Amino acid sequence: FSSASTLVQRNPSFSTLNSDDISYFKGLLGEKSVIQDEDRLETVNTDWMHKYKGSSKLLLLPRSTEEVAQILRYCNSRCLAVVPQGGNTGLVGGSVPVFDEVIVNVSSMNNIISFDKVSGILVCEAGCILENLISFLDNQGFIMPLDLGAKGSCQIGGNVSTNAGGLRLVRYGSLHGNVLGLEAVLANGDVLDMLGTLRKDNTGYDLKHLFIGSEGSLGIVTKVSILTPPKLSSVNIAFLACNDYSSCQKLLIEAKRKLGEILSAFEFLDTEAMNLVLHQLDGVRNPLPASMHNFYILIETTGSDESYNREKLEAFLLSSMEGGLISDGVLAQDINQASSFWRIREGVPEALMKAGAVYKYDLSLPVEKMYDLVDDMRIRLGDLAKVVGYGHLGDGNLHLNVSAPEYDDKILEQIEPYVYEWTSKHRGSISAEHGLGLMKANKIYYSKSAETVQTMASIKKLLDPNGILNPYKVLPHSLNS
Ligand code: FAD
Repeated sequence: FSSASTLVQRNPSFSTLNSDDISYFKGLLGEKSVIQDEDRLETVNTDWMHKYKGSSKLLLLPRSTEEVAQILRYCNSRCLAVVPQGGNTGLVGGSVPVFDEVIVNVSSMNNIISFDKVSGILVCEAGCILENLISFLDNQGFIMPLDLGAKGSCQIGGNVSTNAGGLRLVRYGSLHGNVLGLEAVLANGDVLDMLGTLRKDNTGYDLKHLFIGSEGSLGIVTKVSILTPPKLSSVNIAFLACNDYSSCQKLLIEAKRKLGEILSAFEFLDTEAMNLVLHQLDGVRNPLPASMHNFYILIETTGSDESYNREKLEAFLLSSMEGGLISDGVLAQDINQASSFWRIREGVPEALMKAGAVYKYDLSLPVEKMYDLVDDMRIRLGDLAKVVGYGHLGDGNLHLNVSAPEYDDKILEQIEPYVYEWTSKHRGSISAEHGLGLMKANKIYYSKSAETVQTMASIKKLLDPNGILNPYKVLPHSLNS
């Protein structure tokens, strides 16, 4: 675990929970929604990677926006710090307390409020689990515009708060485009009703965007309205091998040009990532076992005409094979094979977790430079650790992961600040999609100017003057109290 006290000091202006506070919350929410049980607290104090751990004594489970508002109004008046938590699948230490913050989870707010089959607009409460929304929409003939490996646990409120990218961004764009409206509760308990369902609405500042990706630091998201695309009948998945990174890049360019409107995912993993998945996860096998390849690419196409789409994909694969861009490949023949291909790509984070300690970096970089960083890191680390590269190549998003049997300062010293300096030098982003959380709050200047960060701090001060919402996260510690 990263010891919180070595990263940051507890803000002394925050109060400590007392028995009157507990009585107030029990009166408001009822006994069952005020959790003090040690086992449950252990779970919600610990992040998905088992890297960050807080010491909160209280988990609150509100069932309505009004209850969230009353919780925050009370915490603000008492100066009690709060961590909004969703499915707790975040990867930057943002969803767990650093010290004794009260955890508020809207998991009981999991109703679908409305779905309009004509427009495809879904309105739901923020505690809905992404996979449940995917199943609901599937029955209606629609899909969610986002999909990610953590779908079984993450909540739509958490997805919105992290501006999660995921596996379909290359086709449907980011949540800044797909979220049409939301409802959020501010630190003082005021409810901002921005739950519009309009595609176009240029009436003043579009404040919902402040909450998309602000990682619970500006308010608690309680409802979301989201534009969902129709489910198309033809989905095809190819699992391909490339000899070198330059071929992966060329394949991406070709795929954008030749598959065009039907391309719905373009993911990659290197041979280290494949080896980890094969060794760590049960029942996974390499669909291209003839020899170990240096890189693997997963391409998904989605369209409305099966024979046209299949033909298009096959022609693309043939020309890529003839042009020497791919060294081997296989097209999924049925849904089971398709899921087994996705399992490999989606299983990488889980495999890394099982392998021991993992240092995770989620970077946006120019595609042509991206893999140079993985190579550089391998040279720097030598035998100290394994360096794994995978991610959303179609979006210019590299997940650089360093895997070792256990956390070790010697390893960290080789990685940081080198990885951030390298990214900054190439005008990349030190957080493509996971956010800053606690892990990267102090690193924000590698990707944002001082003036921009100062303006963010002013917005934070305006919306949360006491700084009770997710303290120590997102903004640098010098501006965060
Ligand atoms: P949490 O982890 O609980 O919280 C994340 C942040 O949002 C915290 O700062 C928290 O305070 C805040 N928050 C949560 N709920 C609310 C709310 N209702 N109101 C205000 N703030 C809130 N991310 C990607 O972008 N793309 C991926 O492909 C991807 N794949 C992943 C695969 C795996 C296996 C895992 C474990 C994670 C992956 N992630 C990915 C990380 C991603 O950020 C989360 O999975 C997801 O978006 C977080 O949702 P959550 O409900 O778990 O939120």
